[in-house]
Amino acid sequence: MSTEVVSDEQTLADDEYTTAQKEPSEEKKSGGWKLPWPETTIDPTLIRWRYALGIPLIHLLACMAFLPWFFSWTGVVLSVLGLYVFGTLGVNLCYHRLLTHQGFVAPKWLEHFFAVLGVCTMQDTPACWVSMHRIHHKYSDNQPDPHSPLVNFFWGHCGWLMYINRDFRNVNYYQKYTRDLLRDPFYMKLERNERWIQIYAASILLFFLAGYAIGGTQFGLSLVVWGVFVRTVVTWHITWSVNSFTHIWGYRNYETDDNSRNNILVGLWANGEGWHNNHHADQRAAAHGHKWWELDVTWLTIRLLEKLGVVKNVVRPKIWAANAGDK
Ligand SMILES: [Zn+2]
Ligand SMILES: [Zn+2]
Repeated sequence: MSTEVVSDEQTLADDEYTTAQKEPSEEKKSGGWKLPWPETTIDPTLIRWRYALGIPLIHLLACMAFLPWFFSWTGVVLSVLGLYVFGTLGVNLCYHRLLTHQGFVAPKWLEHFFAVLGVCTMQDTPACWVSMHRIHHKYSDNQPDPHSPLVNFFWGHCGWLMYINRDFRNVNYYQKYTRDLLRDPFYMKLERNERWIQIYAASILLFFLAGYAIGGTQFGLSLVVWGVFVRTVVTWHITWSVNSFTHIWGYRNYETDDNSRNNILVGLWANGEGWHNNHHADQRAAAHGHKWWELDVTWLTIRLLEKLGVVKNVVRPKIWAANAGDK
């Protein structure tokens, strides 16, 4: 269980995969900033059926929660806890702050465990998620940002997932953005044979069998409906709201060359991911809340893991060092 130190090569994410922030142009400052669909999704425009059907299907399955027969308080508690376990640890902490931006270093066993939690949110493989997010940072609110809401709100929220983007058609297309990740055979294996979907399916089975063993069929299904489907849908909308809300509404601490915003609501319900303008201004920082009142539960978790000696090389916001220097 050693804590591996990243090599120089692995710490280049900011320089290699994203762009330095520039001064915003007058056109962008003046508002009315609109974008067409990303060039990588047109000529030809193709529906990505797996998502175009899969997203409504999981929403429908989650709607079974409205039927009293599928209710159990245990299911509701697992659903709420799952938002933290799978959404905050799996997506925010691992997919985003660790794998995409290398904001800290975790032991490989823990990194892989968190990545499996991320897989259980049904947000694609770590390498696919990371490549999309690095492209987003590189071209934020410009062509070919895959999910800017400046196309329209629905596009930025989840519409972009339902069309084939040449950059994420398969691993051969997006691996140029994730060479660092795919050097690890663990992440390469997740790309093969639909393994990530198998893991999600296995998690459904696990929830059912655990419930069935304790309280029979009804209890098992209540854990699946609430603990898996409802939690998946809520986690989706939390993650998606970071892509949509926080590139439209909110305040800005930094004049970044994009339309990113700090949105108080998203900051709270996404456990820190909503301080998105801060994040665009200082992408590697593991803390997204830069002011004392910008509550960032994901950062508090990383800070706790650091204090326990589990993670290290934690990157702090540059502004904190600058402010400390002023005093
Ligand atoms: Zn990011
Ligand atoms: Zn963004």
